[in-house]
Amino acid sequence: MPGGSPQTLRPFLTRAAQLYPETEIVSRTHEGMVRYDYDEYADRAAQLANALSAAGFGDGDRIGTFCWNHHRHFETYFGVPSMGAQLHTINPLLPDKHVQYIVENAQDRAIFVDASFLPKLEGAVADDPDPFDSVEQFVVMGESVPETDLDAVAYESFVEGHATEYDWPALEEERPAGLCYTSGTTGQPKGVEYTQQMLWSHTMAIQSPQGIPLADDDVMMPVVPMFHVNAWGLPFSATAGGAKHVYPGPQPEPADLARLIEEEGVTVTAGVPTVWLGLMEYVKENDVDLSTLDRLVVGGSAAPEAMIRFFDDHGVELVHAWGMTETSPVGSVAHLKSDLEDADYETQLEKRSKQGLITPGLEYRVIDDDGNDVPQDGEAFGELHIRGPWVTTEYFARPEATEEEFEDGYLKTGDVVSVDEDGYIKIVDRAKDVIKSGGEWISSQELENALMAHDAVAEAAVIGVPHERWQERPLALVVPVDGADTSALDDELRDHILAEYPKWWVPDAVVTIEEVPKTATGKFNKQALRAEYGDESLVEGRVPDDAAPES
Ligand code: AMP
Repeated sequence: MPGGSPQTLRPFLTRAAQLYPETEIVSRTHEGMVRYDYDEYADRAAQLANALSAAGFGDGDRIGTFCWNHHRHFETYFGVPSMGAQLHTINPLLPDKHVQYIVENAQDRAIFVDASFLPKLEGAVADDPDPFDSVEQFVVMGESVPETDLDAVAYESFVEGHATEYDWPALEEERPAGLCYTSGTTGQPKGVEYTQQMLWSHTMAIQSPQGIPLADDDVMMPVVPMFHVNAWGLPFSATAGGAKHVYPGPQPEPADLARLIEEEGVTVTAGVPTVWLGLMEYVKENDVDLSTLDRLVVGGSAAPEAMIRFFDDHGVELVHAWGMTETSPVGSVAHLKSDLEDADYETQLEKRSKQGLITPGLEYRVIDDDGNDVPQDGEAFGELHIRGPWVTTEYFARPEATEEEFEDGYLKTGDVVSVDEDGYIKIVDRAKDVIKSGGEWISSQELENALMAHDAVAEAAVIGVPHERWQERPLALVVPVDGADTSALDDELRDHILAEYPKWWVPDAVVTIEEVPKTATGKFNKQALRAEYGDESLVEGRVPDDAAPES
């Protein structure tokens, strides 16, 4: 083989354990703070691999996780793929029916679940017509198992007594190592498979100066959930660089994040804007020492300019990045080119609030409605197409979705962008009809169908409207059936949606209209609706705090 050995994840761990055996992995858990070092981490990853083998799992098996960010979840990150199995991180915030579909589609053989997500998982299993047939073992992330109908064992009992050495197999680069589902505009979520080579090349790319490089003097805290594209790949790259890891655990509040930054000396952290808005408010009202914090990575939704200014004023560099589940995820980072270093602050800010410069190793094109490449003048716009070693070329077991969303080896991102003369990509619109709220997707079309299934509703269109905290929230525009009693329609529709969807899917407001405007081809004219109703003031902030999709 050219190069001697394939591009796989395991050497990152071996190196960290060899060179930085005493560097820490720290985790906030229900059981309190846990801390150990790379030496022990490597032992525990091997124990997990042995435990999985002993339970009959291995080669090519898909192993699901349903967890927040903590050390045990991180143990699955190397333990599962390095033994030849495939780590399938499942998003526990999704509606039950999506979770059911995902487990069925992936045919997971085991699921590692947090105790706090156990009721949610039990609910999804209980009303599944085919209750998780493929799953033979549930493993609860902790020392004991709460009362449950599921056939579950505690993680610590599962790994206990197993050898701390594992005879790691030589894996080929094409071996599937990871799997993550992303929400589609229509239909079911789509799986994106990550091979060993994709995760390796993504790790190396984000370790470059044009990425989010992490070194042995860094302390990295991913706030972005580990069920979102491997926490943007940071647990892998932090290990590659020998950095200390800090996992903020279940549903961290701004106060938890501030405390972890101060106490653990966090240098780099990453998450969606909603998380950082929370931290900003907290910092304004409390005395927080951010002096160790060097970089704060923002992605998933656009970083507001005011946020960049705020963190600049506090001596923290806000690094704005763009990516997708399909791109492992990092595709561009808004670093300043060297010739902009002397530019005035406002010019720099304008560049830094764009989605950034393509990451080395990737290629892109911007295609307009007529199929032509658009000029890079910062004005013309079109759909962003992207390809490269860590960009998927297909959806897992979904040939029809693959057919639609790829062209000439490029992924059609559904993001409408312009590119300026310096090469900075800026998202100006979204071609896909979805709403991203607090980092989580809500399918407008699925909500419309659910609303239209209500007896009092003739037609319903759902649009995303800007929201200060969640970036976007759904607004429902409803045409009632003739003669329907609409006096309590708002509440009725809320209950109707809640019967099938989590709280954060409930539209913030329902507006009754006479007719949904249509395009020439008879589709809902969302553009017209957005122009008329896409006004922030309509959103009443009805999402309760405990419904937070925050991620
Ligand atoms: P996901 O696959 O869930 O990670 O979502 C990917 C999508 O999130 C992209 O196609 C964009 O629409 C959006 N997105 C990701 N990063 C950014 C960003 N920095 N600014 C604006 N939108 C973003």
